[in-house]
Amino acid sequence: MALMTGDEYVESIRKLKLKVYMFGELVDTPVDNPILRPSLNSVKATYDLAQDPQYQDVATAISPYTGERINRFLNIHQSPQDLVNKVRMQRILGQQTASCFQRCVGMDAINAVFSTTFETDQAHGTNYHERFLKYLKYCQENDLVMDGAMTDPKGDRGLSPSKQADPDLFLHVVERRPDGIVVRGAKAHQTGCVNSHEVIVMPTQTMTEADKDWAVCFSCPMDVEGLYMIMGRQSCDTRKLEGGTLDVGNPDFGGMEALMVWDDVFIPNENVYMDGEWDFSGMLVERFAGYHRQSYGGCKTGVADCLIGAAALAADYNGAQKASHVKDKLIEMVHLNETLWACGLACSYEGKPTAAGNYLVDLLLANICKQNVTRFPYEICRLAADIAGGMLVTAPSEKDFRDPKLGPIVDKYFRGVASVPTENRLKVMRFVENMVHGTGSVAYMTESMHGAGSPQAQRIMISRQADLNAKKALVKKILHIAD
Ligand code: SF4
Ligand code: FE
Repeated sequence: MALMTGDEYVESIRKLKLKVYMFGELVDTPVDNPILRPSLNSVKATYDLAQDPQYQDVATAISPYTGERINRFLNIHQSPQDLVNKVRMQRILGQQTASCFQRCVGMDAINAVFSTTFETDQAHGTNYHERFLKYLKYCQENDLVMDGAMTDPKGDRGLSPSKQADPDLFLHVVERRPDGIVVRGAKAHQTGCVNSHEVIVMPTQTMTEADKDWAVCFSCPMDVEGLYMIMGRQSCDTRKLEGGTLDVGNPDFGGMEALMVWDDVFIPNENVYMDGEWDFSGMLVERFAGYHRQSYGGCKTGVADCLIGAAALAADYNGAQKASHVKDKLIEMVHLNETLWACGLACSYEGKPTAAGNYLVDLLLANICKQNVTRFPYEICRLAADIAGGMLVTAPSEKDFRDPKLGPIVDKYFRGVASVPTENRLKVMRFVENMVHGTGSVAYMTESMHGAGSPQAQRIMISRQADLNAKKALVKKILHIAD
């Protein structure tokens, strides 16, 4: 079953015995929960795309490890073209869902773990790479969604893991047995976890020797004994319980984040890919972050295509589409978005092979890409809100619109251009609201800021990759300055 259909995927998640808490209660069947279902639909789109013959090149690849056609989300990048196809696929999925489709975290994790385990083995004589390859083949053969978990709660940001008042604030090994390890701790802001079969856990930062027990990387099934999730709230999330589709803005798709807690979970040796090799923690973090910062050049541009489209539609429905300032604002939105896309493509085309043979993005360009993503979507949202008008936050509810007495009044007074049904105008306004203020803003705005690392994390990487000495040498040569 190297390629599941979307429906098979949904049923496979239904079979998992996930422990998901929301509003203080254990969720019975997350798959059917109205608040969670849109996020499942977004992941399902990654399966549907791979089934579509017109997207075969972009959404699938042939695995050199299984010899079969697999979903690109499980691919180990074999060339710069694979990296380019990855961001192309992400842009298409952003365009189709206008949301976070969650599956990229695992794709970025497997590529980072693939190369890091290879180099760890070379330095330490361990056999992590072989273990990982076996696990990877299992996931590829079964077309699983793999989540990637990196961000620890971190407690006091001024202290290293081993110096925290509570050692669990960074996930760590609490016991070593002959057949495996026992881990305790949590990962915060975990995108897509309730819709995943498996999770790969990685350290969150470069560790030192004193933090050895926190330098741990492993995988486990999402329904392993001792693992549970507490759902994060999203603005306007309970609108999904009201039964309609208009007020949610994006009727079918969405994203999700949760706190994942490992309460003394046993991990067998075969699923451990780092245990104490603190000197390779930095490499793993840097590579995962690099891939995920590239990803944002794909997904966020696709999502913004929808937001730009919505702003343009709002202008049409308002009758303002010919105003020169509206046209100029739309041009500015496109300019900003395509600049992000250019960065996503550039870091992909400049990718180079690692010692393990898979391709890594150009880290400097990937960090530039994500740094821009922390800024441009905010401006794109500002312009969308400007074009849409105040109605995007003041329109009455769907219940008023459907009410026999109030409905005709809402219909009459919220109509823009006479030939456009008020309902269509309301739909577009709610969609823009969703993206800039509602559940969609988690994936588009806040995630643009903090997902794949907050802005300062990129600036640190940019300073490391910038090579100012090489730039100084250029000038010295031109000026005939000899040291
Ligand atoms: Fe993928 Fe973008 Fe969601 Fe990250 S934020 S998982 S890159 S869609
Ligand atoms: Fe993300």
